[in-house]
Amino acid sequence: MDHFTYKNDALHAEDVAIADIAAAVGTPFYVYSHATLTRHAQVFTESLKSVKPLICFAVKANSNIAVLKTLAAQGLGADVVSEGELRRALAAGIVPSKVVFSGVGKTRSEMKFALEAGIHQFNVESDRELIALNEVAGSLGKKAPIALRVNPDVDAKTHAKISTGKKENKFGIDIDDAPRIYAIAQSLPHLDVQGVSVHIGSQLTELAPFRAAYARVRTLVESLRASGINIRTIDLGGGLGVPYATDDAPPPPAEYGALVAEMFGDFGAEFIFEPGRLICGNAGILVTEVLYVKQASHTYVIVDAGMNDLMRPALYDAVHGIVPVRIGKAPSAVVNVVGPVCESTDVFLKNIDMPLPHEGDLLAFRTAGAYGASLSNTYNSRLLIPEVMVKGAEFSVIRPRLSYADMLALEVTPEWI
Ligand SMILES: *Cc1c(COP(=O)(O)O)cnc(C)c1O
Repeated sequence: MDHFTYKNDALHAEDVAIADIAAAVGTPFYVYSHATLTRHAQVFTESLKSVKPLICFAVKANSNIAVLKTLAAQGLGADVVSEGELRRALAAGIVPSKVVFSGVGKTRSEMKFALEAGIHQFNVESDRELIALNEVAGSLGKKAPIALRVNPDVDAKTHAKISTGKKENKFGIDIDDAPRIYAIAQSLPHLDVQGVSVHIGSQLTELAPFRAAYARVRTLVESLRASGINIRTIDLGGGLGVPYATDDAPPPPAEYGALVAEMFGDFGAEFIFEPGRLICGNAGILVTEVLYVKQASHTYVIVDAGMNDLMRPALYDAVHGIVPVRIGKAPSAVVNVVGPVCESTDVFLKNIDMPLPHEGDLLAFRTAGAYGASLSNTYNSRLLIPEVMVKGAEFSVIRPRLSYADMLALEVTPEWI
């Protein structure tokens, strides 16, 4: 459920007309609903109350500080994958004791920064990383709290480019090799071995892969505990999907929570979750203006947002539903919606039936709150677009559009050219 609805045929975010935001900030732009973010955080938290969860929002899904602050107010922590994300989480007021640090390639300087901040857990993904972290912690006179991220070799049944839990993926430690790596971790003096973590992929639309992965994690934790390793935290990752235009409806959070309770309800441990998309996907839309309608082999609706602003269609074949900001009486037509970027992959939708837009009309891509702005870039020297937050009848720009002067000022030409 979200708070993007029509009132008198005009699309609103909560109580604000999208057209009013467009008039104030120009297009294209992202807009997020504060009420939707808050509601999703609450629904997910409620669904896991049987295990008293620590919910660490996956910052890479949406790293805007105002979004993080909104979620922090609901008690969420952060799952970060870089020093930049950790700095954002701290800037949003998320306490370090609610931060976990994931990722296959943490640098030593990132480790140092996170140790000095005092984060809750490093999710370590290789024996070599254990050794590096042990050295960095030792040099600071600290002990690094760690979990090993295991790879359970489970097919998440999602798009290949967002699947992370198969043996052939780069992520985690082969679960069959985990006991050996835990023994190494235990032997290193500057590590505190506290947990296990798993994350098998993103946009999962079935519970069965979670069940298979969690069963393997459960067996591993039992055998580690039997061998004297005190596993106190179990990080079950993120990955629960949201409904996009074409995907099957994913299971509701309550069913996911019931699965967790069934599989781990009798386990004494702190349970950590790392949802990203589920929290913010439906809480955002991308608003764009129609530049031209071009008649060629197809009818092309050319909009002012490009693949650099919303990469998911080009990167993952994602299909974002598109809706008019004002419902009119235009006849329906079969069109391709494309951006202005000079790449053949800059296509948002192909052969879709929609009311034929006119130049100047506003359209909105739905479910754009996750992996939208955070994946955007400046390809074709296009400016990063603004992000706006709506709360009730108010809206505020939470990241302004950068200027061309900002863009040019970043670069330095050596005098010897
Ligand atoms: C990307 C990622 C997440 C979040 O995934 P969602 O599908 O957005 O819930 C959680 N944990 C890790 C380690 C990730 O890489």
